[in-house]
Amino acid sequence: QAVDSVAFCRSLFEKLELPIKQEGHSFAFIDNTGSQADKPLIVWIDVVRIEQVVMNLLFNAQKFTPASGSIHLIVEKYGSLEKGDLGLKVKVRDTGNGIDDEDIPFVFDRFYRGRESHKSRSAGTGLGLAICKEIIEHHGGTIDVESKSGKGSTFTFTLPVMVDMEEGEEDV
Ligand code: ATP
Ligand code: MG
Repeated sequence: QAVDSVAFCRSLFEKLELPIKQEGHSFAFIDNTGSQADKPLIVWIDVVRIEQVVMNLLFNAQKFTPASGSIHLIVEKYGSLEKGDLGLKVKVRDTGNGIDDEDIPFVFDRFYRGRESHKSRSAGTGLGLAICKEIIEHHGGTIDVESKSGKGSTFTFTLPVMVDMEEGEEDV
């Protein structure tokens, strides 16, 4: 399904804004794409699956961040139309527990749960991120994480942006 990616992410944010804020976290949406309403960044996605990815990441952020912390959903652009590698970057950033360096290589593995998760008796099966990775790779994107233990985590996934052929040809 072809969707306006920024509008889609904004609608997910609006849907989850209250539930996340109810837990005490601050939660904000940031659009850094600079895209205009008349030139939307169109992605071809399974909306149910991508919603599942964003929700998994946001629920992790919520689960592993103390209620005084903050969570951001950020959209950015990468690449360029000219080079043919235009894409959307979606980031879920939190100021939570972070992930130990030793755990980082394994967080996308099935059933892997960081030692902190066991200690802090949080619920979960360790499948969430493995499913996210599968869905994103199926869409031709990538997913990775940057994190500092005790400081927070940023999960970033990419989605290729559809290029409007007619418009592209006009530029030649
Ligand atoms: P499930 O998603 O199946 O309910 P889970 O949340 O424990 O369980 P994943 O979502 O796959 O499993 O995450 C794997 C592990 O990665 C987590 O147990 C946790 O140790 C770590 N992790 C994931 N997201 C974060 C985050 N935002 N901050 C800190 N640690 C995280
Ligand atoms: Mg999870």
